[in-house]
Amino acid sequence: MNRHIAIYPGSFDPFTNGHMDIVQRGLEIFDTVVVAIAQNSEKNSLFSVAERVDMTTELVKDNPRVKVETFDGLLVDYVVAKEARVILRGLRAVTDFEFEFQLAQMNHTVCEQVETLFMMTSPSCAYLSSSIVKEVGKLNGDIRSFVPQLVADRLYEKFRQIG
Ligand code: ADP
Repeated sequence: MNRHIAIYPGSFDPFTNGHMDIVQRGLEIFDTVVVAIAQNSEKNSLFSVAERVDMTTELVKDNPRVKVETFDGLLVDYVVAKEARVILRGLRAVTDFEFEFQLAQMNHTVCEQVETLFMMTSPSCAYLSSSIVKEVGKLNGDIRSFVPQLVADRLYEKFRQIG
């Protein structure tokens, strides 16, 4: 069982500065942070899983301690397969709490050795979510302070493509 890996799961549709903040702070505690993109979040997503993997990989490519992977099915099964035991999640407003609480309880019940650790959002990212960035981007608003430049470019490109 590897105590030095944190699995950071989510949709990352797309990866924002809020996600980057959690990854960077996670690296202060863990040797490796695996950004695990959920394949079953494809349904209502703007970017395909392949596009998200490509973008996220590009963003973290300079840090060998960050890995980008995808997973299908139950998160705990993936965590166990990685021989990890920590799921890393970010918490913003109280509104995140209910769902995260339920998820963490469920995962711990299904697999006792897996623990979910939460990091409070940094104040500068407290209001940031992939959804809000997509909303603003769609309306041609300025999203450059919310996401890395690469993501901003791909978002505008995507909205141009789909009209
Ligand atoms: P999910 O669909 O699983 O919520 P997201 O990509 O929206 O996937 O988020 C992945 C994780 O990152 C979640 O734990 C979420 O709370 C966290 N997160 C997202 N945005 C922020 C932010 N601005 N600050 C802190 N944590 C965040």
